[in-house]
Amino acid sequence: MRYLIVGSCAAGINAVEGIRKLDKSGEINVISDEDFPAYCRCLITDYVAGLRKKEDILYREKDFYDKYKVNLILGERVREVDVSKKMVILENGRSLPYDKLLIATGASPKSLGVKGEDKYGVFGFRTLTDADEIIKLADKTGEAVIFGGGLIGLKAAYGLKKRGINVKVMVKSPRVLSQVVDSEAAQIIGRWLQENGIIIRTGVGPEEILGDGEVQEVKLDNGEKISAKLVIVGKGVSCNTSLVENSPVKVHWGIITDDFLQTSVEGIFAAGDVAETRDLVLERGNVNALWTAACEQGRIAGMNMVEKSKRYPGSIGANSADFFGLPFISVGYVRVREKGYEELVKSDPKHYRYKKVVLKGNKLVGFITINNIENAGVYTALIRKKVDVSSIRDILLEDYLDYPKVKDLLEEKEGLRESVSMQGEIIKIA
Ligand SMILES: Cc1cc2nc3c(=O)[nH]c(=O)nc-3n(C[C@H](O)[C@H](O)[C@H](O)COP(=O)(O)OP(=O)(O)OC[C@H]3O[C@@H](n4cnc5c(N)ncnc54)[C@H](O)[C@@H]3O)c2cc1C
Repeated sequence: MRYLIVGSCAAGINAVEGIRKLDKSGEINVISDEDFPAYCRCLITDYVAGLRKKEDILYREKDFYDKYKVNLILGERVREVDVSKKMVILENGRSLPYDKLLIATGASPKSLGVKGEDKYGVFGFRTLTDADEIIKLADKTGEAVIFGGGLIGLKAAYGLKKRGINVKVMVKSPRVLSQVVDSEAAQIIGRWLQENGIIIRTGVGPEEILGDGEVQEVKLDNGEKISAKLVIVGKGVSCNTSLVENSPVKVHWGIITDDFLQTSVEGIFAAGDVAETRDLVLERGNVNALWTAACEQGRIAGMNMVEKSKRYPGSIGANSADFFGLPFISVGYVRVREKGYEELVKSDPKHYRYKKVVLKGNKLVGFITINNIENAGVYTALIRKKVDVSSIRDILLEDYLDYPKVKDLLEEKEGLRESVSMQGEIIKIA
């Protein structure tokens, strides 16, 4: 059996481990267009901040690929998948055959979509290569402009500020984290960031990147020009699906998968940030771009590549960070815009504390908590297990809500988790 995995990060590495659980001898090829063995992408912020070195963010021991008998091909990009011939074609024209294929190609930063964006000095915040260039320029110039006030834009700002760099964040919407938390939570986090020295400007975006080959200035969409040699783009990501563009593998936002993480083509699987999988709150397909979800999907997809038997339970959208000692987490459905939901809120903006839970009927479907994330695990378990929380409704926002207080409710649900399959039927998941 020849297994081929495209992408060597959270999903790809866990897939190797999943395959080797069940098949000790099949041939495994892993191909990545990056020049590094797998590393923890989430820790790029710490690397840029100077808090960790490259070797501290490696995802597995150096001998991982040997130990798991993997042939690792680095620095090569897959251009397309030829489904009929069961092979992938690389950018350099070489082809690689497979019996089972996993697409674990993740996502890439969206571009700004303005003139001059190709100049040297404009980077995404996704890879170690980006990070090395960012560090080089930031240390030379001492300043950076970031477009986008989402989680990645703010993580870039935080990492650079920790490094001692002056950072300006330009946000087109009226507040930071507009896709991640509600407006009250955003105000609290935005104010905290500003108090810690990050300049945030709202309602402005880029119009053109100016300079002769290298970035010198940025023209904003209000006509103003600001000096900048380092520009970071944090405008969200899109799934790396181009390799299946001309193939029968179906793509929506991401590559569509079934309950076994198989794509629309038999023998081809997808996992991680590139895959559209079951969302337990939305009860439909979604791309939940999360490290933990990528790991779980990779492991399950790997096992299913050997023997299609393990159902993926699904994930819940989540976002979390800790900026200058202010931790926050937002999980599930939190930006309520329709009828049928109830929000319970406890807010203390003066002390940067905020807690909100969102209920649909008697079930928890989302929460935000700032500056006290101790209840986050309990809330997440209640959401995942779709527990009726009416008996603990009055204490839902209390800090003392802990596992012992919900143990009985969770145990009642043990082994009975219900969800909707990717085909729309109600299924029970252990
Ligand atoms: C700065 C930052 C902070 C983050 N913080 C968090 C966090 O706190 N919590 C959290 O849950 N998640 C976080 N994430 C998201 C998390 O890193 C991703 O969910 C995770 O990396 C997804 O893993 P993956 O294996 O699916 O894809 P990726 O990590 O994107 O890896 C895919 C790999 O495939 C390669 N590739 C792509 N196309 C091709 C091709 N055609 N040929 C060959 N190789 C290809 C890519 O270069 C890449 O190496 C963060 C991400 C970033 C960038």
